[in-house]
Amino acid sequence: MYKTYKVMLVPNNKQITRFFRMAGAARYIYNWVLAEQRDNYKNGKKFIRPFEMMKRLTKLKELQEYSWLNEFSRDLLNQAITDACNAFIRFFERINHYPKFKSKRKSKPSFANKYNKIKISATHVTLEKISLSARQNKKIKNRIRLAEKGRIPTGEKIEYYNPRIYFDGLNWWLSVSVKVETNKMDLTEEGIGIDLGVVDLAVTSENKRYANINRTDIVIRLEKKLKRLQRQLSKKFEMNKVEGRMVITKNINKLKLQILKLHKRLRNIRLNHIRKVINEIINRKPRFIAMEDLNVKLMMKNKHRAKQIQRQCFFEFRNLMEFKCKLFGIKFILVNRYFPSSKKCSQCKVIKKDLKGWMRTFKCICGNTINRDYHAAINLKEWAINKFNSTY
Ligand SMILES: [Zn+2]
Repeated sequence: MYKTYKVMLVPNNKQITRFFRMAGAARYIYNWVLAEQRDNYKNGKKFIRPFEMMKRLTKLKELQEYSWLNEFSRDLLNQAITDACNAFIRFFERINHYPKFKSKRKSKPSFANKYNKIKISATHVTLEKISLSARQNKKIKNRIRLAEKGRIPTGEKIEYYNPRIYFDGLNWWLSVSVKVETNKMDLTEEGIGIDLGVVDLAVTSENKRYANINRTDIVIRLEKKLKRLQRQLSKKFEMNKVEGRMVITKNINKLKLQILKLHKRLRNIRLNHIRKVINEIINRKPRFIAMEDLNVKLMMKNKHRAKQIQRQCFFEFRNLMEFKCKLFGIKFILVNRYFPSSKKCSQCKVIKKDLKGWMRTFKCICGNTINRDYHAAINLKEWAINKFNSTY
């Protein structure tokens, strides 16, 4: 299995300028491939394979008009071709919508480096064609400092996959995958059921509760600040409208940056929280972990709900938990989302139909009275045991 590392880069000014140019070239090629494929598709012709597009690119580069493309590595441009072709393939396979062009304003600047040509040390990453000088010390100029020392594994045996360099609006980042060995632990006999919610983030079948970080003072304070800044920004937008046209001022850009930073900070707080919770659960070495298969997409359709789910990072929780389970050889079980984990009595198995969303306690006619989330977690665990009885 693969683990993806994301590490912030500390490029110098020249490198930053170059990064934006490289991302621009990748975007240009992506859009060019998309245009070619679109025309082709409209005319009812067969999909043009990436290899064919790469041949067309070589021809294109011979033209005076497109000679500027020669200052970029072939791998960077070819990866943009592959990405655009893949977008089309996913469309044909009905995974994605019809591919859209990447706009300069809205798309995230990013580019790729060939996986076997990237070099990573504890402190630096070396990329292709950052420096265009022909001098001897070119190699040094292709090196970019990493913000975190030694986070990405290094060594002769390590192979890197799918290296990408991208800009998140504030900083440049390197994302790279590394193959990791699974690390089988000695597990206990017990499994754990986990109910995710909005009162607490998670309640386990052992009745352990993990707080909702969004209810802590720090997050509430930051959210308030964020709202205030957003209000200021929309006011500034109104004030600076000239004959219906937006005029972007220095102050607007400053506010935008502040908002972006705050968003980042909030996200980091939330992700750190779920990492801590997951590590604590994993450290109890359960035999399996059973969670509800929240159809996040479906739940996102309700606007109010969507915001809560996003703030709680359910999707990230699920993905990280699955990854950690795989890493340590713990069975990860997603419970069918039509299973009535809240409504079915864990003792007499009768389904309580009139359980309302606001009821925090589950009360059954058989006398079973129990906290709602704890009860759901027990049911999820039971479901997993019943389902996989033969294997345990
Ligand atoms: Zn009952």
